[in-house]
Amino acid sequence: MIDTGHHGCGQAGDAYATTSVASGLVARATIAHEGGFPPMETDPMPQATLIDGKAIAAALRAQIATEIAGIKAASGLVPGLHVVLVGDDPASRVYVASKEKLAVEVGMNSVAHRLPAETTQAELLAKLAELNADNAVDGILVQLPLPKHLDTAAVIDAIDPAKDVDGLHPLNAGRLAGGKVDPEHLLVPCTPLGSMLLLKSVLPALAGLEAVVIGRSELVGRPVAQLLLQADCTVTIAHSRTKDLAAVVRRADIVVAALGRPGYVRGDWIKPGATVIDVGINRLPDGKLTGDVAFAEAVEVAGAITPVPGGVGPMTIACLLRNTLTAFKARRG
Ligand code: NAP
Repeated sequence: MIDTGHHGCGQAGDAYATTSVASGLVARATIAHEGGFPPMETDPMPQATLIDGKAIAAALRAQIATEIAGIKAASGLVPGLHVVLVGDDPASRVYVASKEKLAVEVGMNSVAHRLPAETTQAELLAKLAELNADNAVDGILVQLPLPKHLDTAAVIDAIDPAKDVDGLHPLNAGRLAGGKVDPEHLLVPCTPLGSMLLLKSVLPALAGLEAVVIGRSELVGRPVAQLLLQADCTVTIAHSRTKDLAAVVRRADIVVAALGRPGYVRGDWIKPGATVIDVGINRLPDGKLTGDVAFAEAVEVAGAITPVPGGVGPMTIACLLRNTLTAFKARRG
């Protein structure tokens, strides 16, 4: 049976609990055998703790809402999140609508700037300059991907780093890579930040653990590896050229899979008791969403694992809201 118990932010120890139950069962079977009884059938290994991203994200949003209510009561101010959407990509429209809705729910001032697909680079940069200059704007997010005629890197460079709630501006990426800023006060990409919060919900003490991150993108793999390093893990970043990926993953106490290939990480790659964060979101031909890890296999071996959907996904917008609050406090708090 999968443990679907709720795991609030910072709640300790389920992975350890599962692991110790597992070793208890093995020990019981061994003692019975040594005592002269015929070998008994061992109980099946318990399945991994399911890390409930939906519940953890809801708890984080509730915490943000409480903090914003306090700020509003004290100062009359609320953080402002501005999302810029260029064009009418249907998936992007859905994402922007959910960001708007959840930002309003936590009490933020939420504004979406919907620009036509033919918006020029100069027009988009002018919109960003206007938002950069507006003191009531705390967070600016440009929804990606942009239409092909626009230069994404130049657009991200044009966002004020103090308002860069996606954490993608080179200054914020550089600060993270430098390891000199406390991630609590830094604008860190939202999916990696969410992955770390999920990890910490089951593994509060990360120092010294062996972590393998599969994927080295700017959006996920690299920043999550930096955050794990900052948490004193021993970090390996694997990618498409890594040799014998299965052997690399078998060393890991923590596996973060962010490669974008459905079910690629197999159960027999996972070290028993390891914690698995599956960042992958892949749509199968039948329309179902699935992760990068073969969940049915991995859940039999791991100590704790995130499901897809319902794991990392819900944390991404919750962390966007958290970054907006962080940006507000740094500039106006
Ligand atoms: P990406 O830019 O395509 O990067 C994929 C990375 O995986 C690359 O570094 C690539 O290596 C590596 N890779 C690909 N095939 C591999 C293989 N066979 N073995 C080892 N490494 C391999 O993707 P991304 O933007 O980082 O996203 C990764 C996944 O996370 C996708 O499924 C995406 O949908 C999902 N995602 C989820 C969220 C969320 O909110 N949960 C947010 C963002 C992304 P090379 O560098 O060598 O090419």
